[in-house]
Formats: sequence, structure tokens, C-alpha cells
Amino acid sequence: MFNKILIANRGEIACRVAATCTRLAIKTVAIYSDVDAQSKHVSVCDESVHIGGNTPAQSYLNGQRIIEVALATGAQAIHPGYGFLSENASFAQACADAGLVFIGPSPASIEAMGLKAESKRLMGAAGVPLVPGYHGSDQDPALLQREADAIGYPVLIKASAGGGGRGLRMVEQDYAFAVALASCQREAIHSFGSDAVLIEKYVQRPRHIEVQVFGDTHGNYVSLFERDCSVQRRHQKVLEEAPAPGMTDALRAEMSAAAVAAARAVNYVGAGTVEFIVEQKPDGSMAFFFMEMNTRLQVEHPVTEAITGQDLVEWQLRVACGEKLPLQQDQLHITGHAIEARLCAENPDHDFLPSTGTLQVLRWPEGVSFARGAVRVDSGVREGDVVSPHYDSMLAKLIVHGATREEALARLDRALAQTHIVGLHSNVQFLRHVLQSPSFAQAQLDTALIPREQARLLHQEKLGLTLAVAAHVASTLVAERALENADPFSRSDGWRAFGVATRRFDLEFHGTPVQADLRYGRDDALHLSVRTEDADAAPPVEAKVTGVRVQGPLQFTATAQGLVIEFSDQCCTAFCHTIAHEKGLETHVFSAQAASKIIAVDVFSHAGDAPTQGGRLTAPMPGKVVSFAVQAGDAVKAGQVLAIMEAMKMEHTIAAPADGVVAELLYAPGDQVAEGAELLRLTSALAVIE
Ligand code: ADP
Ligand code: ADP
Ligand code: MG
Repeated sequence: MFNKILIANRGEIACRVAATCTRLAIKTVAIYSDVDAQSKHVSVCDESVHIGGNTPAQSYLNGQRIIEVALATGAQAIHPGYGFLSENASFAQACADAGLVFIGPSPASIEAMGLKAESKRLMGAAGVPLVPGYHGSDQDPALLQREADAIGYPVLIKASAGGGGRGLRMVEQDYAFAVALASCQREAIHSFGSDAVLIEKYVQRPRHIEVQVFGDTHGNYVSLFERDCSVQRRHQKVLEEAPAPGMTDALRAEMSAAAVAAARAVNYVGAGTVEFIVEQKPDGSMAFFFMEMNTRLQVEHPVTEAITGQDLVEWQLRVACGEKLPLQQDQLHITGHAIEARLCAENPDHDFLPSTGTLQVLRWPEGVSFARGAVRVDSGVREGDVVSPHYDSMLAKLIVHGATREEALARLDRALAQTHIVGLHSNVQFLRHVLQSPSFAQAQLDTALIPREQARLLHQEKLGLTLAVAAHVASTLVAERALENADPFSRSDGWRAFGVATRRFDLEFHGTPVQADLRYGRDDALHLSVRTEDADAAPPVEAKVTGVRVQGPLQFTATAQGLVIEFSDQCCTAFCHTIAHEKGLETHVFSAQAASKIIAVDVFSHAGDAPTQGGRLTAPMPGKVVSFAVQAGDAVKAGQVLAIMEAMKMEHTIAAPADGVVAELLYAPGDQVAEGAELLRLTSALAVIE
């Protein structure tokens, strides 16, 4: 076995490979770009080397530099992960030329499978079933149009060099073909450096089922069975499972044999995946056709690991060392059912656009381990990490295993409910909506499930306004009480008079202003009233919720399972995380059912609520002046910080509502001020000019 390998990748897959190496006592070398200097994959490897800037070309695609680093650090082999250099035949060759083992197939196998059109010709010759289509090298547009017409619409135009769900165009009618072809070729030349395309019959309501194969240098091949990756968005996988629901033993044997034949045809060594598009016939039977072979470890390999009990990275390492496959076909069996969810930094409600930012809160489900039956998390990030725009949006994968599909599904839903990501958009709640959809739950799968059911999958907010408000108020009080207990001399409840007092919360729920009044009654009983603007008073565009009037007793208890909240006949258990927001603070509420967020508007710093023509800047609640950032006579710009106040154990920034000149400071740092006290006086710039 190797003593040391270099991992030419980043993120979760670099961490995944490192985990197996650590278990096998193989030393690891990480490489990193500028932005990745502090990233998780660097910290889990034994050594790390800075390789260049931030663009993939400067860093994780810089093959020559990577080989130099491998040689300099004494690594014997390079694991390419997926993406980046993993399917680059010339890099595999360059490794061999430098005396390094490329942990993957030979350059010739990569090349043979690298182009979709050529691999199809090869597979056709090897007797692997193909989707009816045109894979020829003559790319004359008139010929392509004739071929498409002959295949029959709808057809799919594919960039021959494409991948990652890009370079695909579905064409429904003959007259739309020419335009789609031109657009596909433009994307193909730009993204893949070649405008060659192929045309295929578009299979209706298809499933994506792929077979994991392995080959060794001794001519042995096995199939580690199939994975169903039908649930996709923009032709990219979202949820993957194994075994494929509804798979019969006979079909599995046929597909496995076809996949092994495909691998054998190119003398394949290592881990590979043969992807099939599967047609679901009206009589319930399924026909499968070769789509492409991915000559690397796949993102979704953990579901295969879960059902077979094997570590595929260990298999890769053993095979790369020249060992025989650890097991033969008759020693491999399927146990139970596994599902993987890809957690991405993206906003499903905005066309799945990727999202960047700091992972201010990142909580994984309880009971995480690599053991079967539990929840496995393959993650490339930690709390506090910055998700940059330089790389792909996948943050982590959640993998569950159960005795049955139902069990695995329930486990995944619970695990997603316990996954809290705050600081950027993620698809966690969207994944739950997919899992809970009747189609997915009943395994009525096809690649159009997400677009077809978008009405019930997107723009869902099941934890409504009232519970979000109650959760915000309750979590604020819990946080304040915790601070009081830690520091009894700075009690924050100065706002509370004897008898009954009311405390106002200015909130915003998805653009809707919400006012909540908390009354402290006798015996510490809390009464909360929640109201939004009247329908006729509300601004027509932004505010979605109007006329809400809810009030009643508020009760809550902090438990290890979260905050148990009861308000106005509703009850929920939720975890709340509060972070800074440009308008004040934002509380993210995660309950077992759903998640939501609500903004506590800081009326001090919220320019929109402050006078715009200069004038009084007052304290909305009693507190302490921490500091002034300006002096009398200073000219200030709108948004500039004027003073810091402390109230409710939180600092509030008081910013200038408009350009102006500070006329007078009315208090000194350290002064306690009453609610409504005027802190400083500002003259507007307009007034000065006049
Ligand atoms: P899977 O391994 O499940 O097939 P993908 O096909 O999405 O997953 O590819 C895995 C990774 O490789 C992703 O990060 C994807 O962006 C990247 N990738 C795959 N093919 C290409 C390609 N031809 N060009 C650029 N990136 C690619
Ligand atoms: P990529 O290299 O980008 O992964 P694939 O050829 O594997 O490209 O296709 C990606 C996805 O496009 C598949 O998973 C499937 O959802 C869809 N697809 C591919 N070929 C067809 C087809 N002939 N008919 C219908 N859908 C297809
Ligand atoms: Mg594919």
C-alpha cells in the first residue's frame, strides 16, 4: 500500500479521501488555492501546499504544479477526486510520466469514454444498448437536422465533450432545431472547447439509473449494483438512492452485465460509473440505454458504500497499488436502502442560484457516524467558513441507511430537520419538501419530478408568521435571561415597570412589517399580541401578509430538543439562531416541521424609519450610551455610524439617517438614558446649504 498520496481536490471529496487514508495509515498531502488556505480539507490532511491563485486554472487544474508538489513531498500517488483533473487523460499520462500513480483508470480508458459521441460508437460495438440517435463525426447542420427529423421529436442535443449537466438542449419541434443547435454549440465551444454534438431521442419520463463498476489490473470486474439519480434539477442530481426502487433481479443482472461489458471494452481499472437512461413503459417494464461512463469516483458513491458495506476509496487505493479487487461478484450483496441528499449553497426559490457568504451557523444532525443505520455527513466545510464564489456550490452530503426505503426516507427527513445552516441560502428545506412530496415518497421517480412539482416544492414556508414571531420573542427572552444569570449587575429588564409593562418588538417577516407587543402580567405571565398592517394601509408590492391580529398567552421552556413554544393554540419545538442583519437582527427558526426567518428591525439604525431631514435621534428603549463616533460640528454621510448604544444586552448602532452635520451631543459615554431620550441632534445637509 502507498505511504503517502496527494489529494488533488478540495471540499468534501478531498476530506472523504483523506478519511480513508487516515484509517489506512496513509499520509496525505493537501493542495490549496488562496481562498482555501483555512479550509477544512487542508486541516484534515497531514501536509498542505499552497498551489496558486483562486481560479481553477491556477490551482486545482494546474496539473504541472500539482505533479511538482507530489514529487517534492514524496507522495507516490495522486487521487483526483471528482471534477477538476479526474477525467483528464493528459494529466493521468503526465502522472505516469513523472513516476506517480494516478488513482483512476488508464489515460486510454479516460479518453475512450471522454467524448460522449465516440464512447457511444464504442459501446454500440460492444453490444451495450444505446438511445436511438446520431453519434457521427459529420457535423453539417443540415445533416444534423435531417438526423433529428428521422429520430423523431422530442430530441436532445448534447455537447459531445459536455458534462455536469451542461451543454444539453431539448428540442420539441423540427422548426426549433436550428436555433437550439446553434445555442448548444455556442455553450459547448465556450465551456468544453469543442462544438461537436450528438443527437438522441428524448426519452419521456425517464429515470437515471447508473451502475457502479470496478475493475483491477488483473482483468477482474464487478458491479456494485445500481443507484437511482432521477431526482434532478437542471440535469444535475439532487437526491440519489440505492437500490433503485422497483428494480427487479432480472433487470439488475442485465444492467450490471451491460455495465461490466462497457468497462471491459475499454480495459477499465478502478472505480467507474456507467450511466443509463431508463424508459418506463406503460406496462411497467423498463428499457435501459447507455448514456455515458464517468471514469472516476462519483459524488453519490456513499449510497453504494452504505448498501454494500464497502469503502470504495479503499478499493480505489488497493486497485491502484496493483492489488486484486477486494471481493468477487458473488461476495457482494445489497443490504437495506440508502439515500443521499446533496446540500448546496443555493436558493431554490430563485432558480437555484448559488449563494455565497459565511456559514455563521452550521449544525449537523445528532448521531452522526460512519456506521450503517446512522446518519453520515460528508462535508467540506465547518461553521465559520466562508463559501466563496470560486467553486461549486455543494457544501456537503447527508447519507442515511435504513432497513427499508421508508425507514431511510424518514431518517433523512429527520436529519435534514436537524441540519441548521445560517448565513447563506441553502437547499435544506427544499430537500425536505421533495422528500415529503407524494411522488418521491411513493417512488414515482423520473427526471422531471422537480420541475413538474415545483408548485409544491418551491416558495414553501410552513412555519408561519405567528409562530416565527413567538419563537423570536421567546428566544430573545431566553438569551437575555442567560446573560442576566451570568452577570446579575447588568439586568436588562429596566423596561419592565411594576405591575404591567409592555415591550414592543418591531419585526419584519418576508417584507411584511409586524408589530408584536409583549405584556408582562402578574406572576410573570406573558401575553403576546401580534399585528400586521391593515390591508388598505399596506404598501401593495412588498407586504404579503396583512390584517393579522393574534393575541394570547405566550409560554416557552428551553430544552435540549429546542425551545418548546406555546402561543395562541399553536405549539412548536424550535431551535433559534440570531445573526446580524443590515436592518437589525435576523432570527432563524428551525422546527421539526419547517424553518423560517424573521427580522428584528433595529429602529436606531434603520434609515427608513428615521427622520430624513435631520432632527432628533432618540433612544427607543432605556439603555446605556457606549460611545459616540462623532463630535459636534462633524459633517456625516447617510449611514455613517454616529453612536453605539447598549440595550437588551445587545449593542445597537445608531447611524445617520441622511447626510448632515452633527449639531450637538446630548449625553456622554456611559450615561444611562431613558426610553425616548434625545441622544444627539443632527442638522441636515440641505438645511446647511440653505
Ligand atoms: P456525478 O459525480 O454525480 O456525476 P456531476 O456529474 O455533477 O456529479 O459531476 C461531479 C463534479 O464534477 C461536479 O463538481 C461537476 O461540476 C464536475 N464536472 C463534471 N463534469 C464536468 C465537466 N465536463 N466540466 C467541468 N466540471 C465537471
Ligand atoms: P452529463 O455529462 O452532463 O451528466 P448526461 O448525458 O449524463 O450528461 O445527461 C445528464 C442528464 O440529462 C441525465 O441524467 C438525464 O436526466 C438527462 N438525459 C440525458 N439523456 C437523455 C435522453 N436521451 N432523454 C431524456 N433525458 C436525458
Ligand atoms: Mg451524466
